[in-house]
Amino acid sequence: TDKLHIIGGGMAGSEAAWQAANAGIPVILHEMRPETGTFAHQTGNLAEMVCSNSFRSDDDEQNAVGLLHWEMRAAGGLIMEMADAHALPAGGALAVDREQFAAGVTARLQAHPLITVAPGEITALPEDGHWIIATGPLTSGALAEAIRAETGAEALAFFDAIAPIVYADSVDMSKAWFQSRYDKGETEEDRTAYLNCPMDRDTYEAFIDALLAADKTEFREGETAGYFDGCLPIEVMAERGRETLRHGPMKPVGLTNPHQPEIKAHAVVQLRRDNALGTLFNIVGFQTKMKYGAQADVFRMIPGLEEARFARLGGIHRNTFLNSPTLLDDQMRLKSRPHIRFAGQITGVEGYVESAAMGLLAARLAVAEIRGNALPPPPPETATGALVTHITGGADAKTFQPMNVNFGLFPPVEGLKAGRRGRKDRYKAYTDRAKDAWKGWMALS
Ligand code: FAD
Repeated sequence: TDKLHIIGGGMAGSEAAWQAANAGIPVILHEMRPETGTFAHQTGNLAEMVCSNSFRSDDDEQNAVGLLHWEMRAAGGLIMEMADAHALPAGGALAVDREQFAAGVTARLQAHPLITVAPGEITALPEDGHWIIATGPLTSGALAEAIRAETGAEALAFFDAIAPIVYADSVDMSKAWFQSRYDKGETEEDRTAYLNCPMDRDTYEAFIDALLAADKTEFREGETAGYFDGCLPIEVMAERGRETLRHGPMKPVGLTNPHQPEIKAHAVVQLRRDNALGTLFNIVGFQTKMKYGAQADVFRMIPGLEEARFARLGGIHRNTFLNSPTLLDDQMRLKSRPHIRFAGQITGVEGYVESAAMGLLAARLAVAEIRGNALPPPPPETATGALVTHITGGADAKTFQPMNVNFGLFPPVEGLKAGRRGRKDRYKAYTDRAKDAWKGWMALS
């Protein structure tokens, strides 16, 4: 019973197996490929990269994902070790040879004396023992059904319709203003829940033209089922009629622009606070299939967002993920069945690196539990801690969508200068603070 079972040998499951086995705990890693495939995976290798071959920025002083690299390396992470071993020249990004990378991870896990790779699909929730479910955005249908039966239909999503997320401090407040529609709500929190950006008729018409003309990503085979039950992409709304958005997410009613109270806006773009800290705002109703390059250009046409920086861009993807803020405790355990932890993209993080980091963390928490030692989650000043704090508590459960790691999730560092120069110092302060905190947490585990 001191074994750890892990379902899914992707980014999260592979890292979890490595961490637990290196801590001396026997691991059974259940992986359904190659017998049962997904629409995106091509091979039977563990830790297959389904799309890009990049682990994004490797800058551990100025970039939150680079900091996550640093934390995983400091914890002896296998995903980072293999990424470093098979890195390709790519400027500041950590790109890898995907074949060699996945083959390297597979070989290391198979050779580990405490790891057994057990082929086959798991189709039901385990009744007892210690388990981590890391079956990813393309969790097989039978297991997804079993999870849904346990959590309720509302709490397991099959798609993410991601609205772009903007850093609050990059919004031009000489044009935008805080107000909730019809001034709903009474507290200071309510008053700062929405940011509004006004559009006159010419700007609106130019915006619709840009939406219609922008490059879009096509849906992949197997990806579209159920999509029309969810939210429509804004460009599809614009295709249905030039006024559709103005009567939908961009309706100008119930709002007064304090910068120009005498002029009624033709349309208003609303941004909703996305985290408890108030550092991130999502653009309401702006899920989109526009390509990333096009998105920033189109969204910067919105008055107030000319200089906007994006914590993440919009998208619509097949993605199975839990409503973690309601379902998981801060130990990443399913509240209703605490012998099961979840890790990886299914917990509502987004990206290879984030998924691997959540695998690393889930395994360390599970190992501590098996040993009978209490291990607190890492502090929110670390990248790993900021992510897990967001998914298990900080995020708004009602609008929960998968999240990349970014500095907006960290408790702010106070007392630094604003502006570009200040930003560099601020990020360095975040990463310095994170590294100290991570070392402190590692000493506990
Ligand atoms: P995965 O790496 O998908 O691993 C899950 C594993 O579980 C798989 O090996 C699967 O075969 C197995 N499995 C599933 N169900 C069962 C079952 N019932 N029993 C046994 N095994 C099972 N992120 C990026 O950073 N960059 C990208 O370019 C990128 N592109 C993406 C493209 C697509 C089409 C998708 C769907 C996602 C993409 N992501 C990307 C997001 C995400 O980071 C990756 O999917 C990442 O691999 C998630 O890691 P994971 O370990 O949670 O899941």
